[in-house]
Amino acid sequence: MIQLTIDGTKIVAQPGKNLLQVCLENDVYVPHLCHMEGMEDPPASCRLCLVEIEGVNGTVASCRIAPRDGMVVTTQSQAVRQLQRSALQLLLSAHRVDCRNCASNKRCALQQMAKFLKVPLKVKHLDHLLDETDYQLNHPVLEYDPGKCVLCGKCIYVCTRQQAHPVLTFARRGFETVIGFMGSTPPSELPCLDCLACSAICPVSAIYPKKPEAASSHSPGPADQRLNGVGKQ
Ligand code: SF4
Ligand code: SF4
Repeated sequence: MIQLTIDGTKIVAQPGKNLLQVCLENDVYVPHLCHMEGMEDPPASCRLCLVEIEGVNGTVASCRIAPRDGMVVTTQSQAVRQLQRSALQLLLSAHRVDCRNCASNKRCALQQMAKFLKVPLKVKHLDHLLDETDYQLNHPVLEYDPGKCVLCGKCIYVCTRQQAHPVLTFARRGFETVIGFMGSTPPSELPCLDCLACSAICPVSAIYPKKPEAASSHSPGPADQRLNGVGKQ
């Protein structure tokens, strides 16, 4: 067992967990978006799960830190909060905020973090970087909305974990990065309709099943009834 101190409280943690997990399991909320439990190599791409560690310069992404005996961690300093606010504002500047019409309303990671960090969901002082392109995922059964996507990568991660031949990947670069479909598999052989793990994990409803009538090359069946419900989340 590892003994460390988080925000002044002594905590005992099991080896093998990262610092973000230890914080969350001990009711210390650290904003985060891209991390998922069980990830062996978290991407640390959202830059939200920042903490300070005594003896370490600056802030660090807690999902990349293995707790050590005697570690002293601060999750709520002014510097941490300021950086988290900036990271969240940057995300929101590229996100189409339309909560009333959004399937993620009231269970949304952005809403939770915005409330916690006291950041308005509609960012006024930053150029709006929303991707308004008419990018199409071109997937037979999945729709994708780049104006909603926060590029957390969870859909790709679960696709990779669930499928021997994953079909989702990042495409393009920089501000134009989107989720892409590696579309060489014939639609009839795609595992997606019986999986939908990407849609279930997406924190902002940016990837979701097409309505059955829009899904291409697919015979109606019991799975369509499932789609009916999930697609309208
Ligand atoms: S994803 Fe969250 S913040 Fe964005 S529109 Fe939906 S509920 Fe609002
Ligand atoms: S589609 Fe959803 S799960 Fe995938 S990267 Fe975008 S926000 Fe994350």
